[in-house]
Amino acid sequence: MSAEKRGRSTGRLPTEEARRRGLRNSLAKRAAAPRCGAKRRTDGEPCTQPVPEAGKRCRYHGGATPKGKEWHRRQWPRKGAAPSRLKGKMLALAVRDRKAEERRAAMTPEELEAHEKHRRAVRPGTPSQRQQARRAREARQLVEELDRKREGPPTGEQAALAAQIAELEAKAERLRAEETERRTEGTKR
Ligand SMILES: [Zn+2]
Repeated sequence: MSAEKRGRSTGRLPTEEARRRGLRNSLAKRAAAPRCGAKRRTDGEPCTQPVPEAGKRCRYHGGATPKGKEWHRRQWPRKGAAPSRLKGKMLALAVRDRKAEERRAAMTPEELEAHEKHRRAVRPGTPSQRQQARRAREARQLVEELDRKREGPPTGEQAALAAQIAELEAKAERLRAEETERRTEGTKR
């Protein structure tokens, strides 16, 4: 589109009428757009934010997170985009990094550890790399679970021995008590 067609550089400001028409059009477009529909955390109802395409999500519900190979990777403006785009992006990233740093600084050591663990586990990468990591994670969990089961609840034999030990200890306690009683009686006489 040329500058002439857009009505720029001609020195003319949009008339009030044109401005209103533009606003009306954009509002109508927004009203007619398909909705995000993700479940809202506040009330569990579907999100009503407009999205560019049916089935997509708004930016609050993951719509801004790229899919596939670009998953969770920083997205830069397209080649030939206006320099202001890059500037805006850099600013937004700086703000995001600063906020993340603030959140990290406010965490307790346990929270920080959990956070780092999550970050190590869920890394951006190609879909196949992520799948591989997921499978490794599942395998590790399985091994841990098996280890736990091996240590697990006592067998019947162990339980019987534990009961026997408890019984003998109780008997020893009784005998000790009787012994002390006998001794105190002895001193009285
Ligand atoms: Zn949404």
